Amino acid sequence: MATVLVTGSNRGIGLALCRRYLRRGDSIVAVCRQSSPELDGLGVRVEAGVDVTSDSAVGALADRLTGTELDVLVLNAGILRSDELETLNFDDVREQFEVNALAPVRIAKALHSLIRSGGKLAAITSRMGSISDNGSGGYYGYRMSKAALNAAAVSLARDLRLRGIAVGILHPGFVRTDMTNGQGNISADDSARLLVDRIEGLSMETTGTFWHASGEVLPW
Ligand code: NDP
Repeated sequence: MATVLVTGSNRGIGLALCRRYLRRGDSIVAVCRQSSPELDGLGVRVEAGVDVTSDSAVGALADRLTGTELDVLVLNAGILRSDELETLNFDDVREQFEVNALAPVRIAKALHSLIRSGGKLAAITSRMGSISDNGSGGYYGYRMSKAALNAAAVSLARDLRLRGIAVGILHPGFVRTDMTNGQGNISADDSARLLVDRIEGLSMETTGTFWHASGEVLPW
């Protein structure tokens, strides 16, 4: 039985990941700002009140988790603001950097010592953070913040290698959640199933690489 911590666990892909790991018999630490009836219904350990952009909230979470050994840490919380060149709002860009790029590093900094040697860290990124795959433009804040997350996750892979911790940089697919207004070609449950398979398959040979949940390696 593994112990898995998931951020952004109250809805969407994070909730589906909790459901998936629970079905496997794993122990979950579900981190969120505010729980949901669906998350409460799982009966797992919920750590609410954690805005991932807050140093004090993440520090308090680390204090509460003292002594907990994690097998898997999933950095999933994220936001998408639709922005275009003509109407670009830099506050929106900054907000996406805060949540999508800085917050995963904040959580990793605070919690990496809890990951057991040989454990895994998964950063839920987006293929929209791929520079070479950008064929349609726009989405400045989202693309920039996810590209920054990808860069940070490669550093995490290098830094955690000594402890045998493998880091996966994972695109979940185009998933029907609130983020996509229910659009997409895969359900959150199916995405979570594929993501868990990718996390399972991570090794020190593949640490620091960028994957589609479907199993395709993505270009930077
Ligand atoms: P949702 O919008 O459904 O869920 C986002 C989650 O992130 C919620 O739990 C939300 O909590 C949490 N969150 C946002 N901001 C914060 C914050 N400041 N502090 C704590 N939690 C926060 O999105 P998805 O489930 O679709 O997305 C999950 C991840 O997958 C994201 O990183 C996203 O970028 C990525 N992704 C999703 C794709 C898709 O097609 N859906 C495609 C590519 C990547 P709250 O309820 O409190 O707002």
